[in-house]
Amino acid sequence: MNRWSVNSDRIEARINRLAQIGKISETGVCRLALSAEDLEAVLVVKGWMEEAGLTARIDAFGNLIGRLEGANPDAPAVMMGSHIDTQPYAGRFDGIIGVIGAIEAVQTMREQGIAPAVPIEVAAFCDEEGCRFNKGLFGVRGLLGQLEEGELARADKDGVTRLEALVAFGGDPSKFAESVYPPGRVGSFLELHIEQGPVLESLNSPVGLVTGISGPLWWTVDLHGFAGHAGSVPMPLRRDALASAASIIAGLQTLASRDPDAPTVGTVGSLQVFPDSRNIIPEHVRFTVDLRDIDLGRRDRLEAELRVLIDEAAAANGLTYTIREDTNSEPRYCAERIKDAIRASAADLDVTLPELMSGPFHDSLAMSRYCDYGMIFVRCKDGISHNPKEFSAQADIALGCELLYQAALRLCRAAAHAPAEPA
Ligand SMILES: [Zn+2]
Repeated sequence: MNRWSVNSDRIEARINRLAQIGKISETGVCRLALSAEDLEAVLVVKGWMEEAGLTARIDAFGNLIGRLEGANPDAPAVMMGSHIDTQPYAGRFDGIIGVIGAIEAVQTMREQGIAPAVPIEVAAFCDEEGCRFNKGLFGVRGLLGQLEEGELARADKDGVTRLEALVAFGGDPSKFAESVYPPGRVGSFLELHIEQGPVLESLNSPVGLVTGISGPLWWTVDLHGFAGHAGSVPMPLRRDALASAASIIAGLQTLASRDPDAPTVGTVGSLQVFPDSRNIIPEHVRFTVDLRDIDLGRRDRLEAELRVLIDEAAAANGLTYTIREDTNSEPRYCAERIKDAIRASAADLDVTLPELMSGPFHDSLAMSRYCDYGMIFVRCKDGISHNPKEFSAQADIALGCELLYQAALRLCRAAAHAPAEPA
């Protein structure tokens, strides 16, 4: 029996429908941002938005945005959403449940005869994943006026620039300035997302309340040594870039694991060796660093230690090096009033709601610089994500959608009674 107001069957059918677009295996999906598959999915979702009563459009940045007017159309909107683009080897749920859940919340309100006091917006943001052009959160940052110099010139593996892909998608760089949201257009942002980690499963809880998103620090590190014959150059005379990289990677593991009670994580996920031959001493190594923590002070201390470690490891083999900072975000905490709305909704539903931080970043990270935000996590099996094996149970997703719906209703009611902003 369905305990919830939201329609679990409709949610499931929509998830399954999207999984058919860019399908690569029984449960795997590849729907890269701004691709033909992405556009096909956006148009399907646009149809669902319209069915839910939203007025939907694709904006200049490639975001799909739906709006339902409130009794007071000038009030700051309650916005919900996430993304529907995927990694190249992805599952069916990452981002998707946040968009389908948001549409479901609006459709449920309409079916319940609830007219919101303030406007509601639903967003499927363009290119959250960032895997195609190596920089994520494109659409949401565009909407909020946070794009950086040179982003449109970034090219994918085939040499297609973001500019070319965006124009083919229906975006319009000439309209960027007028498409940026002015301050105050949105007052609250809510995102439903799969956890992408193992914490909720370990607690045996279907849903959780996010307290904040830990800030990622992303580097690209280049180590330069000197190539030579692997058979003839004596060890003391070598300038082996890979040998230093190995000690840096091992050192990062030690640094990130030092406090077992801290959620610190450090990863080298990509490494290239030049000339990459078994009998040549590696001359050039490039690798990425991803360092995250909910405590910025601790992350800063670890960063300083890592810089010393790289300096020493390079010196040990006579290398030169550069560290390019690609991303540096500080942790962003969820708003108390939004967490309270989600807590109250869970209490009403008699659901326990553990609280946890998010290691991955989400569209909410960008929204957090614009307005208050809150996030609800849904348990996923074995914490697996960015993998076709990614799985969340339909009952858990439906519960997450119900929480989203209830919390959005609370935020709309609270906004209706809020004192007017001073002019
Ligand atoms: Zn996601």
